[in-house]
Amino acid sequence: MQPPPAEPGMHESEVDTPALVIDLDVMETNMNRMAEFCRKAGVGLRAHAKTHKSPVIASWQIERGAVGQCVQKTAEAEVLAWSGVRDILVSNEVVAERKLKRLVALQSMAKVSICADDSGTVDRIEQMAEAARQRLTVLVEIDVMGVRCGVRPGAEAAALARRIATSPHLIFGGLQSYHGSAQHLRSEGEREQAIASAVRKTVETVEAIRSEGLACEIVGGAGTGTFRHEAASGVYNEMQAGSYIFMDADYARNNPRPEFEQSLFVLSTVMSAARDGVAVVDCGHKGIAIDSGLPLVHGREDIDYVGASDEHGTLALRGTSLKVGEVLRLVPGHCDPTVDRYDWYVGMRGQRVDCVFPVAARGMMQ
Ligand code: PLP
Ligand code: MN
Repeated sequence: MQPPPAEPGMHESEVDTPALVIDLDVMETNMNRMAEFCRKAGVGLRAHAKTHKSPVIASWQIERGAVGQCVQKTAEAEVLAWSGVRDILVSNEVVAERKLKRLVALQSMAKVSICADDSGTVDRIEQMAEAARQRLTVLVEIDVMGVRCGVRPGAEAAALARRIATSPHLIFGGLQSYHGSAQHLRSEGEREQAIASAVRKTVETVEAIRSEGLACEIVGGAGTGTFRHEAASGVYNEMQAGSYIFMDADYARNNPRPEFEQSLFVLSTVMSAARDGVAVVDCGHKGIAIDSGLPLVHGREDIDYVGASDEHGTLALRGTSLKVGEVLRLVPGHCDPTVDRYDWYVGMRGQRVDCVFPVAARGMMQ
């Protein structure tokens, strides 16, 4: 781990760059808006920690009423459980015995639930839970978009639910029904249509499971792009949005009047301004994710980030100039993988550093 890039009280211009900075006021507004939305809609918020990878931010979400956290990885579940988060859903398949053992071992500290889409895996989870004399909650993941994990909705899902429910050391926890590819569809109409289809499949599955005499306590899914539709569906009861706290350039492109504002930036310094109309900053694609497009330069319509190499970012200047040493806030194209590139968050209030805290689950890939 690197030393922290800043200390509380510093001015933004003194922070070592590239650095991952949060506008805390904006992030708090985003968290409050989502908390209020879920409260009014009568659904739970199980915010996704794959975005922030931080028990500190998890605790701020839980303080505002979130029922718990989602994670994608076993090691992320450990970081949260060891920091006192009490209700964690691994919204993903876990198949390796060693990982299952680790998750079963966490049960004495937190309620950790997992998803499954395979009867062999369910049997393996049962064996692990039995060996540890623990009981584990397992959700059935259904594939509502046809491209990722999950059993087919309906009868197949109901059969897997029955297998979980009849395993002595497992508890059937409900359905994982996340439509990932709908989140970043460009138009509101396309997203609405995609979720309408997911809702039909989810309703059909809940009914098939009910006819087995089983109830789905959790019906979870939804992300920042679609949560309003799942919340209004009457069948989903837990929203798993993650990116809403930070936002990114790609999410901003999809919504002309975004309800959440950009709170996450990579602070970057101009390291060269030798050529007219061009400047180079100290953040290339090792410092900011470009899988969903190049970064934007916050508040600077007259500057375009046009090229990313490993450690250099090239800026095209339109009728403006920059000096070596100037500091700019870059808006990541995609927030989650950007966060995973940094050891520390620098929390800002205006232009002053308020706090510095670790991205504790950074690199927790196993
Ligand atoms: N739920 C699951 C299972 C996911 O995989 C993701 C993101 O990929 C999310 C929720 C959160 O989505 P977002 O960060 O777009 O809000
Ligand atoms: Mn993402």
